[in-house]
Amino acid sequence: MRCPFCHNPDSRVVDSRETDEGATTRRRRSCPGCGRRFTTVEEAVLAVVKRSGVTEPFNRSKVIAGVRRACQGRPVDEDQLAVLAAQVEDAVRCTGSAEVPSHEVGLAILRPLRDLDEVAYLRFASVYRSFSSAADFEKEIAEMRAKRASVAEIASADLPPPVIPRAGGSVSADAPPGATDPIG
Ligand SMILES: [Zn+2]
Repeated sequence: MRCPFCHNPDSRVVDSRETDEGATTRRRRSCPGCGRRFTTVEEAVLAVVKRSGVTEPFNRSKVIAGVRRACQGRPVDEDQLAVLAAQVEDAVRCTGSAEVPSHEVGLAILRPLRDLDEVAYLRFASVYRSFSSAADFEKEIAEMRAKRASVAEIASADLPPPVIPRAGGSVSADAPPGATDPIG
């Protein structure tokens, strides 16, 4: 970062702290040329547009809070929630847009949550997609099973063993696919 006083092209960070729940980072910098100090604020350009039209910075903590509610009583720990939030942020950033509608953040949550915990996924999806009947759950579960079956199919295809991904972490080695199905 260039010094704003003497335009020295280099400066040294002497202090760095996150503010606003990590949405911004403030850095105190020192110029080796003139010795003066200045502060920079780094802020993610990723903004979430809420249904009301209000925009706010993307915030992993909010993703975690929402998903944590769906994970109550489920074997999901804080580390896994943190990883999921990072995956969601990556997915949202990959859209390449500086402003993302909040429902797209919700969509980005669904996939990693399905991989993490199917019950939590169904809870989250039921609220997020406004399930109105048991039939909505049945449809979602059928889709989940179809996806899992296609993953198993890919895993048992003709690729050499070392590169084959396991067909879902919940299927143990001595059980056939589907035997550990928590839904059925
Ligand atoms: Zn300077």
